[in-house]
Amino acid sequence: MTVSLIGSPRRTSEEARLDKNRRIKESIKATKAKRKTQTCSTFDLKIVGNKLSSTQREALVRVFLEAKWLWNECIASGDPFSYKPRKNVLVKTKDDTMDEREYRVLGSQMKQSLVKTIRSNIKTLATLKKQGRKTGTVGFTSEVKSLGLPQPETTYRIRGQKARIQNIPGWVRVRGVGQLEGWEQAKAVLTSEADGWHLHVTCYMDKEEHRKRREAKRLAPVKNTIIGLDMGVKTAITCSDGTEYDVMVEETDRLKREQRKLNRKKKGSNNRQRNRMRIRRAYTKQQNRLNDAANKTAAELLRNETIFMQDEQVKAWHRRYGRKIQHSILGRVKNRLTRHAGQVVVLSKWEPTTQLCPVCGTKTRIPLERRIYKCADCGYTAPRDVKAAQTMVWLGQSKYSDKIPLERGEYKPVENTSESYVDNLRMFSMRSAKQETVTASASR
Ligand SMILES: [Zn+2]
Repeated sequence: MTVSLIGSPRRTSEEARLDKNRRIKESIKATKAKRKTQTCSTFDLKIVGNKLSSTQREALVRVFLEAKWLWNECIASGDPFSYKPRKNVLVKTKDDTMDEREYRVLGSQMKQSLVKTIRSNIKTLATLKKQGRKTGTVGFTSEVKSLGLPQPETTYRIRGQKARIQNIPGWVRVRGVGQLEGWEQAKAVLTSEADGWHLHVTCYMDKEEHRKRREAKRLAPVKNTIIGLDMGVKTAITCSDGTEYDVMVEETDRLKREQRKLNRKKKGSNNRQRNRMRIRRAYTKQQNRLNDAANKTAAELLRNETIFMQDEQVKAWHRRYGRKIQHSILGRVKNRLTRHAGQVVVLSKWEPTTQLCPVCGTKTRIPLERRIYKCADCGYTAPRDVKAAQTMVWLGQSKYSDKIPLERGEYKPVENTSESYVDNLRMFSMRSAKQETVTASASR
């Protein structure tokens, strides 16, 4: 080794470089092959804000600021594909002069990944343009919101409840580490969001192992029941057994208040900036609330063994009902339910669940305002939504039985569906008769 060093040091270093490149290439190839047998998932770890030291906080603010400088310098260079980050960066100041600043926190890997992002953005836009779509350009930015941390154990590292991020002093406390258990960590992204900083970690797991874990984790339906779900704008989710789930989540006063204030703030002022941050934070909270409510409702519904629902168009309701539906979790619940194929059977949207009479089989159109179904042919009456939900069970069992997995065993199609169905409904028709008189007297 010493001989070759003395002999021709330049060649040796060149050889070493090539050797390193070759090794990198091989490991990339090996990783690619491995990934084919793995499932991918990303997990959101939130950095606990009130546990940060002031130096950590400053560093986190600074790293996104420096990222913005780099981004804008790269764009200003006019040729992002040959742009290389330097040690310092030229920054345009408020009075339009250029100022040379030093990178203090932004690491070289983060710089590289930022430039990579710009390049891939440009490429994406170019492809879209080729497809004939209207596109903008990748331009200057006022804020960089995410930073790539490509290498686990180098650019970031997670130990226990804490994470270390390259060039951010010390360890930061993160929430949600439990999700990573059993997963192999790959790249991560550090983001600056309305409610603070997050670390989104991309992870991999062997497909077979993942399947086993999911099987083990899956909660068996606790109730040996079959239900139908009618999703309507007015009464939320109505089950065939008569239970109702409220799907409206109230918009908080804070969000409304802050939104009203925005118009009064001077454009470009610090106050307006702060106000916008508050709106963003309130909005994020609202979204979290909606997701939480949707998770709970879906979990409750999935306690039933088989669920029949209809492929109704939540999007169309959005158009028709606008703001009201924005605070509804209906779409979210539906999305969560449809992920459970086999347990949840989705009926075609063309099935006349509302119109069909279970007694005589004729169809009667009922205007949306009328809450009571009344058959025009035989006079059968029942609460509209409950009846629709029960018709789903009936239709589902007779027409969609092939979609219910047979290995679950205990399930057998009901012999005479319509009979038990009518039996079920008798009590409702009695109740609805009472309701009808109440509404009639109220309208008088
Ligand atoms: Zn009828």
